[in-house]
Amino acid sequence: MAYVITQPCVDVKDKSCVDVCPVSCIYLEGDDVDRKLYIHPDECIDCGACEPECPVSAIFEQSAVPPEWQEFTELDRRWNTGDAAERQAVRARIDEIQPPAG
Ligand code: SF4
Ligand code: SF4
Repeated sequence: MAYVITQPCVDVKDKSCVDVCPVSCIYLEGDDVDRKLYIHPDECIDCGACEPECPVSAIFEQSAVPPEWQEFTELDRRWNTGDAAERQAVRARIDEIQPPAG
């Protein structure tokens, strides 16, 4: 199991979670390319430290991800374990789920 970052992080990404993660398993490639952060499911030790730090309550333990955001479990995994093309596909899917403002 692992924690998952869901839709409310999109375009917020203040990185409060990154500061408290003891194993540094919360990633983004760059603020200009990624609209959310992604938890590596195989590196996360399930400590829960990040969850209360998120100002928009985007972080959930995998079994507690709300139904409307179930897809984000897979998106975190795909972004962290796929190649560059897969990463780009995840970004495109994020843009479909929440079209960029303006
Ligand atoms: S604390 Fe929440 S909003 Fe901020 S980067 Fe982490 S998941 Fe995203
Ligand atoms: S649950 Fe712990 S190990 Fe996993 S991402 Fe959050 S702070 Fe890092």
